[in-house]
Amino acid sequence: MSDPSVVSLVHLGCARNLIDSELILGRLSERGLMISGGLEGAGTVVINTCSFIGPARAESEAAINEQLERKANGEIERVVVAGCLVQRYRRDLTESFPAVDLFAEISDYRGLASAIADMATGKTTPAYLEAGGLRAPERDAARLLATPRSYANLRISHGCDHECSFCTIPSIRGPHRSKRLVDLVSEAEELVGSGVRELVLVAEDSTAWGRDMELELPQLVEALAETDGVERVRVMYAYPNRFPWELTTLLREHPNVATYLDIPIQHTATPMLRAMRRAGSGEVVKRTLGRLQEEVPGITIRTTLLMGFPGETDEDVEEVIQLVRDHKLSRVGAFTYSQEEGTHAATLEGIVPQEVAEERHAAVLEARDAVLEEAQAARLGERFEVIVDEGSERTGTAVARAEWDAPEVDLFARIEAEGLSAGDIVQVEAVGLDEHCNHVCELVEG
Ligand code: SF4
Repeated sequence: MSDPSVVSLVHLGCARNLIDSELILGRLSERGLMISGGLEGAGTVVINTCSFIGPARAESEAAINEQLERKANGEIERVVVAGCLVQRYRRDLTESFPAVDLFAEISDYRGLASAIADMATGKTTPAYLEAGGLRAPERDAARLLATPRSYANLRISHGCDHECSFCTIPSIRGPHRSKRLVDLVSEAEELVGSGVRELVLVAEDSTAWGRDMELELPQLVEALAETDGVERVRVMYAYPNRFPWELTTLLREHPNVATYLDIPIQHTATPMLRAMRRAGSGEVVKRTLGRLQEEVPGITIRTTLLMGFPGETDEDVEEVIQLVRDHKLSRVGAFTYSQEEGTHAATLEGIVPQEVAEERHAAVLEARDAVLEEAQAARLGERFEVIVDEGSERTGTAVARAEWDAPEVDLFARIEAEGLSAGDIVQVEAVGLDEHCNHVCELVEG
């Protein structure tokens, strides 16, 4: 018989949802519940779901079914479902999964932890926890970090005011709400206090931060970069339109700001951007990338591309591939379009067959890989600073990242050296490439 007061969490989705998973774990721990690092030994399993697109939704549903099967086999007592799938489908979800013990909409998760604590002591609890309105953009306190202590994600705002025609996120996370600068600096101090060296700024649209408070993102980035103990600030999820160009000074000059920017553009063909209801034209996208590369020499730009959108032509795809080549975009994530009910895009004609969408996706990644191999090879023999994410204690090889690689989504550097621990900042020399184009490095003493 498993103990329902021992809780394990299955995390699904993006870095923003990972912060929610860490918050749920923190709240559970605050309530005196035991957190189990693995599924074994836990009597209650919480699944923090994602429902952004079809494949993510399928993954969440499979995870729920897997735990319900374990419950049916008597391996666990309670199954709890939280996150974006609940927020999107609300009580309809209870009909699809009647054996789930508790559903929770997105909130600060205090109520969820209390309900799980009550369930563990046999008290009756509601089977469905409503959020009761939009989540306040408050400080994310009490997180149990799931990332190596070298870095932590820092959510700077909630929600999004854009209306991209393919996207469900505004309907899940609501309109844009910035967190206060004072709260974010205090969160940063707390994270640094626990050994974190790099802050990865995340949001639905990080470039909108502060506009609801007459502030702008560069002010926040500077305040965080100036916070004692912060070694690296990285900006993710920038939106190309209304870009806060003062940011380029910090990206270029501030020693604690990574010369790096994640700026999802989704596409560059103007007819596609129009149909996606993205602000700006293909020319605006190209000008924005060009100006970034001009104003911040050596910047690494990461972007996201969506292929196979209704109405997309071969010429449109050629434009994307040319953009990857012209701007030497080596850090590119690409997806194939997923028709999402309730979105404007789902009403559009000109559906691209899935196999064609996948061919286009593969062609874009092929162009990316050629740029990537060239960029990585060009750094051989170079010496640079890295932050260690995984120490070499166990294997004799450490895993680290230079400023041109974000955690989880980009590449890394392998260092064959003893005695390195997560959080160490060291100088290395790139001496080779592994089969995935990651740098193989030697430690540079002194
Ligand atoms: S900016 Fe991003 S989160 Fe906002 S609607 Fe567009 S794709 Fe969705």
